[in-house]
Amino acid sequence: MSSRLPNPLISLLVIIVWALSPLPSTLAQVEKRPHIQIRGIYGGAPTQLLKQNKQLPELGVNAIFMGSGSLTEERIAQLKKQGAQVFAEFNTMHVANYLKDHPDAAPIGVDGNICPAPQGWQGICPTHPDYRKYRMDEFRRVLKEHKIDGIWLDYHHSHASWERAIPDMPDTCFCERCLKQFQKDANVSLPRAPTSKLSQLLLGKQKAAWVQWRCDVFTDWVREFRSIIDETRPEALLGTFHCPWSNTDFNGALKNKLAIDLKAQANYIDVFSIMPYHARFNHPQDPAWISRQTAWLGNHLDIKGAPGERLKIWPIVQLSDWGETVPVEQVHSVLDHGTRLPATGVMVFRWGSLHPQTDKVAAMIDYYRKIKP
Ligand SMILES: [Zn+2]
Repeated sequence: MSSRLPNPLISLLVIIVWALSPLPSTLAQVEKRPHIQIRGIYGGAPTQLLKQNKQLPELGVNAIFMGSGSLTEERIAQLKKQGAQVFAEFNTMHVANYLKDHPDAAPIGVDGNICPAPQGWQGICPTHPDYRKYRMDEFRRVLKEHKIDGIWLDYHHSHASWERAIPDMPDTCFCERCLKQFQKDANVSLPRAPTSKLSQLLLGKQKAAWVQWRCDVFTDWVREFRSIIDETRPEALLGTFHCPWSNTDFNGALKNKLAIDLKAQANYIDVFSIMPYHARFNHPQDPAWISRQTAWLGNHLDIKGAPGERLKIWPIVQLSDWGETVPVEQVHSVLDHGTRLPATGVMVFRWGSLHPQTDKVAAMIDYYRKIKP
């Protein structure tokens, strides 16, 4: 069928129609991110996609983070064959089952009684020697047995439920062992008094020394984890999934409540995987919160995202619905903020609940493919 319109005019009309039609968000313009080396998925291999004969490189994915209990030689080999790095997640202070046979490892509250788990997030007393040995032995086993590219600490903080809009962070652990250890390490002697009185003193007059001692205990765990990596698989990275707050958010809870001293831990950690789950943590309409928290962390630890830097920031960002939903229209924005410097890698939370939401998976793949160098 011939047209009466001259060809150049048709071309012009086509261009105008194309320019005016709204692009679906999944096809929106994406800035290149040459500094991003890791485009990861957290929560295991995307088997649902691999079964469709899709290969990780065509999905733009080059890193898989999975629970250390799900590692198998076959799985690691399959992922590595597709060019992906494999990282294990390691539960440090949250093996709740341990308390069944070792009730003396339960964190003790300000009143001297066992402190119930806030919203089920059970922590463990950080000075329980057998629990510590149990975790260190397991850490060593995972590194010895599996050819992984790194291992990430998870729940490395005190007994608390902070992964929510309003955190619940009881003061612990005032067990006799912790009180004794504090007095020895901090060179402090506490009066003979009931725990309820001593906890008042430690959260009052002695607070600075108490808070720093608790942070130092948790940092010392990280020192030992590092030494195990150095002995068993020195090429592997040590990462940590950690609370995304600044040191002033929630009245300094990062140190005061959670016992996380980022600067001290930076002596042993290679990669900080800050967890800015914007929707879950009360910023559902504000994905820019992700890059603000990452920028704060970079400033705090003097990480710029430059090539060759020892310390790295690879945020884990929320795409799956948890608490609040993450709409498909937000996927690009979340990944945009998650991949801004000083970040040099990113991963998405979390495959198990994300994979049935195929529109969001498609948007993630689209973004990853576009930023792939
Ligand atoms: Zn204790």
